[in-house]
Amino acid sequence: MGGAGYIGSHAVYEMVRAGHEVVVMDNLSTGSRDMVHPDARFRAGDIRVHGDLRQVFIAEQRPDAPPFDVVLHFAAKLVVPESMTQPLEYYHNNVEGVRLMLATMVDYNVRNVVFSSTAAVYGNPVGDGTCIEDTPANPINPYGASKLAAENLIRWVSEAHDMNYCIFRYFNVAGADASLEIGLLKDHLTHLIPVALQAGLGLRASMMVLGNDYPTPDGTCVRDYIHVTDLAKAHVLGAEYLLESQTSLLANLGSGTGFSVTQVLAEAEKHIHVPHSYGERRPGDPAKLVASNEVARTVLGWEPTLDLGDMISSDLAFRRKSNAL
Ligand code: UDP
Repeated sequence: MGGAGYIGSHAVYEMVRAGHEVVVMDNLSTGSRDMVHPDARFRAGDIRVHGDLRQVFIAEQRPDAPPFDVVLHFAAKLVVPESMTQPLEYYHNNVEGVRLMLATMVDYNVRNVVFSSTAAVYGNPVGDGTCIEDTPANPINPYGASKLAAENLIRWVSEAHDMNYCIFRYFNVAGADASLEIGLLKDHLTHLIPVALQAGLGLRASMMVLGNDYPTPDGTCVRDYIHVTDLAKAHVLGAEYLLESQTSLLANLGSGTGFSVTQVLAEAEKHIHVPHSYGERRPGDPAKLVASNEVARTVLGWEPTLDLGDMISSDLAFRRKSNAL
């Protein structure tokens, strides 16, 4: 679900590379058809429309097995500031969409789900900002709250209907596939790395550092950045884990290292000059979020292999290619 968007398309590429047969359902609201791997089957549909889900499951019926072994969910709205002004829209898409997806899975006997959740469920974590999976979830924006509601729904449904889940809480995802066929290309980008590189490429006049009075070493927010390809590979491991182990899993996906906005800009400056200024804090932003990634490492054998420099250089290369710069 949502395999034509930024993260979904990268996961589909890795699933196809690992030899899996993939069907993508997407309403193309933010994704695009040409982000879907040529070897995956595409079916247009909206996760908020039960009939659309049913149609896809019916079309993919198999004689002796449910239509799918595993459903992977990427069909979410995910922009924190947008969620602050559109909470109803966020709950509709991120919770109601999941409810309908789960209902359809139950109807068609599909028992495994990999779900994209987010570090935003942690809110402002107590302590030093390091999030372990049993850190109490306490979201401070509608985006995080809607994802936590969906997580809880998945847990209850899995108990009631004998379903296994793999919930991944993503930290800050960036970068593009090495092929440069896919990447993050939207009109209204808000995430730090693409915004900074757009400013560097002259695609926007400048960028603003949103607050430098946080209780962090240099006053700017600290986040854990993870390359989209590492993240995508974790989904292959997560799906295979469900099929092999028949047990559920909740795991953070992050590098385990925090970088401040200032540090990210310094890394970007190694590749391109980024004109920037300083502005007010953005509502809903916690000071520091860094992952403990022990669960993903130990249970799945997952290991991030690409670093912040790789995220910046691949996003920059993708942006240059897509904008013919
Ligand atoms: N940020 C910034 N300027 C921007 C966009 C983001 O200073 O134009 C900061 C933002 O305040 C946050 C960090 O960069 O501290 C990461 O924000 P992003 O939107 O990339 O991801 P989020 O952590 O909100 O999911």
